[in-house]
Amino acid sequence: MQVLVIEDDPTVQTLIKLILQKQDHEVFLAQNAKNGTQLAMENSHDMIILDLGLPDGNGFDVCKNIRDKGITTPVLVLSAEQETDIKVKCLEIGADDYLTKPFDTSELTARLDAIRRRSKGDKKEGMIECGELKMNLISRTFMVNGTLVELTNNEFNLLVYLIKRKNKIVSLEEIAENVWDIHFDTQTNYINVYISYLRKKIRAHSEKNYIETVRKKGFIVRCGND
Ligand code: CA
Repeated sequence: MQVLVIEDDPTVQTLIKLILQKQDHEVFLAQNAKNGTQLAMENSHDMIILDLGLPDGNGFDVCKNIRDKGITTPVLVLSAEQETDIKVKCLEIGADDYLTKPFDTSELTARLDAIRRRSKGDKKEGMIECGELKMNLISRTFMVNGTLVELTNNEFNLLVYLIKRKNKIVSLEEIAENVWDIHFDTQTNYINVYISYLRKKIRAHSEKNYIETVRKKGFIVRCGND
């Protein structure tokens, strides 16, 4: 998804950006109500995360303005206040949901997923392909040669990471850091085990070996035509 984040606090901005990028969303930032409104008017985003306390205005007004102009992009309001009537106010101005700061990663993710499910998402957004492999990042489904193949969360994230870096050697360290977000001992067999699961699942429906091992360096994904 393409997500517009209208937020003036650099710390919160960075946090949201990290969370979203980790889930393969593209993030666009606006620091104030004016820029945020301008960007929202382009009507090119799949979601807007909107802070209420902006330096040049109130997030509620931003939301109201864009709704008045016919922009229907789902809006998740971020609020520092614990106001009880905030939910009512959000609904009144046409926002889809709200989240109170401070929030944790899983809560933000859950809210965004819920909004996305409710809105009519564009199906071609968030598709990545590699030869016979097709991944839908929104529904998190994976197909090999037209057959739906079930992947665990870790397998899915790992394969997305590898395909996005196709034709490049990806080291175990990079995978550990970017897919699992931890620095574990890469001498362990952990990642190799996941790679073997993926290979097995792919090979059940394809003749091709998409994930090649590069000795002492890591792995490389080749998709075929490029
Ligand atoms: Ca603020």
